[in-house]
Amino acid sequence: MSGVLAVRNPRTGEVDYVIEPPEPAELAAVCGDLRKHQPEWHAAGIGHRAAVLRRWADVIEANAKAIGDAEMADTGRSRVAHEVPYLVAASIRGWCDAAPGILDGARLHGVSSVSPTVSYDTEFDPYPLLGVISPWNHPFLLSTLDAVPALLAGCAVIIKPSEVTPRFVEPVAAGIAEVPELAAVLRYVTGGPETGQGIVEEVDALCFTGSVPTGRALAQTCARRFIPAFLELGGKDAAIVTASADLPRAAAAVLKGAVHNTGQICFATERVYVDETVHDGFVEELTRQARLLELNHPDIGHGHLGPFILARQADIVDDHLADALARGAVLHCGGPSVTLDGGRYMRATVLTGVDHDMKIMREETFGPVVPVQACHDVDEAVRLANDSEYGLSAAVIAGDETEAAAIGRRLNAGAVSLMDTSLTIAIMRDVEKTSYHSSGLGGSRMGPNGMLRFLRRKALLTRCGPVPDMDSLREDA
Ligand code: NAD
Repeated sequence: MSGVLAVRNPRTGEVDYVIEPPEPAELAAVCGDLRKHQPEWHAAGIGHRAAVLRRWADVIEANAKAIGDAEMADTGRSRVAHEVPYLVAASIRGWCDAAPGILDGARLHGVSSVSPTVSYDTEFDPYPLLGVISPWNHPFLLSTLDAVPALLAGCAVIIKPSEVTPRFVEPVAAGIAEVPELAAVLRYVTGGPETGQGIVEEVDALCFTGSVPTGRALAQTCARRFIPAFLELGGKDAAIVTASADLPRAAAAVLKGAVHNTGQICFATERVYVDETVHDGFVEELTRQARLLELNHPDIGHGHLGPFILARQADIVDDHLADALARGAVLHCGGPSVTLDGGRYMRATVLTGVDHDMKIMREETFGPVVPVQACHDVDEAVRLANDSEYGLSAAVIAGDETEAAAIGRRLNAGAVSLMDTSLTIAIMRDVEKTSYHSSGLGGSRMGPNGMLRFLRRKALLTRCGPVPDMDSLREDA
């Protein structure tokens, strides 16, 4: 495992940072240390844990500039990078507010419905050590989504973010060190796949956010180790635009959902099915709006679209685009990628004449591309939207909310945005959802289950009154 890993700057293409993954013995020692402190963390109670995490939220805000600057270097975008520390701090405080009520609400006590002299109570016992392995597209935020509710549940947590975007770890770890009670039970380590595999061998439960192939491989390791795996994987979100939709609104919603963060979002809109009677008008409006979007090059402080964070991702997006064009798709604006001062960029790209024989409609593209397919009617649009290996989320833009909801109910996806796209993040602590097909496994990270999944439930059963006599065992009683 030893050896330094080079980190590429997405704006320059230069290697300007390195990380040194821990040796296996070091990793084992970190996990051992976290395990040692976890019982005290759990025993201290939810009030203590929430108070400690609130202090961490304050520290994150105090260090927001340093964290934002590091994430900016990781991702090549400025505004989002500098907003993320505040988003994370707000999310921590939100979980701290919600956690006591979630625990109270989940506790059950009463009398057996089949045996009136048996009463029961429940205890929660957290998995001692949770491993979190996270991807590169939202480095700091995605490293915390599972870790925060797990810490509140009473787990210790080890986090390994992507080796593609590890710069943010330095300022975040410095902040954790300012809160010693937290530092005892929360540790970031940097490294690549080998470090990830080492973590899966050490922990009692795993939260993985990343690609389907890696998720599948890690789930197999977890099955061998008999530990739970919570997997948040890729997507290929469909958006349906009906004949009754307001076209400028539909175009704006689809475009925002498709190109936000240069399309490097699991719930990005990656394919659009539009009623054939409004297809041309929709595409004209979509193309008009797409042409207005600018790259954030050369000035990181201007424009809408940052560079591809991972150079290989630009190759994948180019490949999907070339495959579509070779099979007869029509390019209205944008693509393929361009290299500017070493960074790989792509303008907002609109395609028509696509179908499900093309990679761009079947595989995760993860770039700022909007492929639009015309449909005869809603039934065809629903059939095509559901014709996917993925089922993370979806969207419907119709004439009104009632019409959109009727279509949304028919889609095989865990969260369906109506009259807009990509609304999932808004309900993070409120509503549980289940990803369909290959987009995830293991129970919702959202809603109360986002915390309760880290707790093993122990039932305490009491016989109230005498133990039944041996006659109760007689066959002839
Ligand atoms: P990835 O699967 O390549 O890597 C994710 C993480 O797993 C990284 O930390 C990496 O080092 C680690 N890893 C890779 N191979 C490993 C192995 N064999 N053993 C252990 N660890 C290993 O994914 P990525 O390219 O970093 O991220 C992009 C993917 O993440 C996309 O598919 C995207 O849709 C998905 N994603 C999903 C969500 C969600 O909430 N569903 C959110 C963001 C991103």
